[in-house]
Amino acid sequence: MTDLFDRLVGQAEPSLALRAYTERPVHAYLLVGSDSAVTEMAALHFAAALQCAKNGCGQCEVCRLVLEEKHPDVDLHRSDGGSWQIDEIRAIGTESMLRPRQDSWHIEIVDHIERTVDGAASYAALLKVLEEPAEKTIFILTADSLPDELVTVESRCVLIRLRALSVDEIELLLIQEGAEPTSARAAATSSSGSLRRARILLRDQGVVARLALWQSIPERINGEVSTAIDLVAEVRAEVDSAITTLKEKHAEELAIWKRHRDELKIRTESKDQIDTRQRRELRLFRVEEIGFLLRVLAEVYRSRMAALVEVPRSNESDARLRSAMSALDLLTRTGERLYGTNMEEGLLLTDLFVSLSRQ
Ligand SMILES: [Zn+2]
Repeated sequence: MTDLFDRLVGQAEPSLALRAYTERPVHAYLLVGSDSAVTEMAALHFAAALQCAKNGCGQCEVCRLVLEEKHPDVDLHRSDGGSWQIDEIRAIGTESMLRPRQDSWHIEIVDHIERTVDGAASYAALLKVLEEPAEKTIFILTADSLPDELVTVESRCVLIRLRALSVDEIELLLIQEGAEPTSARAAATSSSGSLRRARILLRDQGVVARLALWQSIPERINGEVSTAIDLVAEVRAEVDSAITTLKEKHAEELAIWKRHRDELKIRTESKDQIDTRQRRELRLFRVEEIGFLLRVLAEVYRSRMAALVEVPRSNESDARLRSAMSALDLLTRTGERLYGTNMEEGLLLTDLFVSLSRQ
């Protein structure tokens, strides 16, 4: 089993013998994890383990072909940010009946199975496929979440829950994927633990500069309300420019969608569905970006506290310690408000910076 897959599943389900998954495979697996980039990678590593004679050595030709998505018996079906049509699911079902051409199994990987246009009808079609599988076919389905409608599909699969990656693991992966170490570090640090977000940030030239700006904020807060307000404007302008990369990605998606509709006459998700999803992604990006800012600020105050422990105690050092501690409290509360309420971003930040400048 490749090391990566082992680590992803290992912590979540230590009691399960991982080898059993690949040595006596069943016809369908459902990999569930909150980070779609991680889930997809895990699905490919799992497929490699099923095909490879050495249980997924990660080194041989078979493993390499699977991981590079070039293996003739491993089909990866991506929803490409859209939702599955019932016809597409039926087509995958038909394809799944083919015998493997080369290796032991014919593997069908289908991502984001939680996203379907027709809901229950699509799941019924999928269920039919899973109930009458071809002898040599294995399905690896992936999902970000497990909505209630998926329960019948889930009951036909071995459910494998994946944990998220740590910032260090994301950094390492980005470097393995060819990223330059400084950008990889910055993208991983600002990723909120999401490989999907880290890959977007890697395309974002401004992430290193943003990290530096976030780090400079505690130094620049000087007790003046006007300074706090200026800083909020500066932060928001940075987030606006950072979101450009995601907006470019959205424009690409929309162009593909239009081509499908106009040239290939494929009915994919509706324009409304795309708009709703893209709006959600934009909002999530902003929330994650502010979350990144809060973590960087907390890091600055924590290192201030660590430095104060080294110096002899005085009234002044005690006061600075108290101030750093209440700044950290403030940051924790702001984080709770960020994720727990729909508080307007400008208001949230103004409130935070004004309060920080009063410490
Ligand atoms: Zn191998």
